[in-house]
Amino acid sequence: MKYRSFPKIPGLDVSALGLGCMRLPVADGDPGRIDEDAGRAIVNAAMEAGVNYIDTAWPYHKEESERFVGRTLEALGARDRFLVATKSPVWLVKERDDWDRFLDEQLVRLRTDHVDFYLLHALSATRWETVLRTGGLEALQRAKSDGRIRHAGFSFHDSHAAFRTIVDGWDGWEFCQVQYNYMDEDYQAGRAGIEYAASRGLGTIAMEPLRGGALAKVPDGVKDIFSAYRTPRMPAEWALRHVLDRQEVVTVLSGMGSADQLWENAAVASSAMPNSISAAERSLLDGARDWFRARMAVPCTTCGYCKPCPSGVAIPEAFELWNAASMFGDRDGKASWYASMYASRGSGADACTRCGACEPKCPQGIAIPDRLSEAHAFLS
Ligand code: SF4
Ligand code: SF4
Repeated sequence: MKYRSFPKIPGLDVSALGLGCMRLPVADGDPGRIDEDAGRAIVNAAMEAGVNYIDTAWPYHKEESERFVGRTLEALGARDRFLVATKSPVWLVKERDDWDRFLDEQLVRLRTDHVDFYLLHALSATRWETVLRTGGLEALQRAKSDGRIRHAGFSFHDSHAAFRTIVDGWDGWEFCQVQYNYMDEDYQAGRAGIEYAASRGLGTIAMEPLRGGALAKVPDGVKDIFSAYRTPRMPAEWALRHVLDRQEVVTVLSGMGSADQLWENAAVASSAMPNSISAAERSLLDGARDWFRARMAVPCTTCGYCKPCPSGVAIPEAFELWNAASMFGDRDGKASWYASMYASRGSGADACTRCGACEPKCPQGIAIPDRLSEAHAFLS
């Protein structure tokens, strides 16, 4: 295993591969019933492979993930072998005391007296306002001072502009966690966000390196592109190597469904060095990205410049789901997400009144109302 370190936390070796506990094996397809034996085998394999970073969060597996991590590390006697990361459920915070209440409950769930890496979960511009309004930063500082957390950071899902605001909003950040993979160079924080964070002294934890698994099971067209390389490689290896090539990335989180998968990914993380991808490899990764992009339904970059819509339509979100379904073929999954997160809450594409406010703001020149109507039909 290779180890890297955060610029603000020198001397602390962090494995280049981190174990994500959001998609552990479950019983009977129920996310709330983690398969204890299979899950423990993965944690055990991680330990043997030299992985020393384990990541969980309040809501994962219907709030069972943190409890699983606590039980498992205790049973394996491995608490001191891992840097434990978890995240504050910002969306549940209503007042100042909530920050401490959630953290104290998480320490109980995790069966530990401290969290090594504590993140404010999935920050966005809106949630950042909640953090500031309810004293979240003071709470983080207090928790660091009294030893309940060792290092403070945030994970992120919003526009690049919001990312910069949050990075600049507190000197106490020690790291950030963003979605990054070869398809998402310009999505949310993106490559530019990772570089900006580095310019402010923040190392990055990369999440979704396989885009929820889609980049591990690529279509034949993409397999054909990768097959031009001199050595056979699995699609997941290509995706992980792309992320680990960035020197700003300290660890890449992957949710691995079996011990075998963990060993495969650990082998990649044991050999991938920063800035080592050759021109030939880069051209194949570019080819794979182009293959997917050619199948995008709409050229939306999810920049968010069209927002806010006066009718509350989730414009980039609807286009993103339409594109993901078109590129990766998971139409049912995306349709279900669209229905539950947007259409049923009045922010689906069908809420568009064709007022025309968004269209002039779109740098891609997308005929937004017309394309929204198509997106809605596709996703419904
Ligand atoms: S045209 Fe539709 S999507 Fe665009 S701002 Fe108006 S209501 Fe919103
Ligand atoms: S529709 Fe246009 S402005 Fe809106 S997010 Fe997509 S590319 Fe950006």
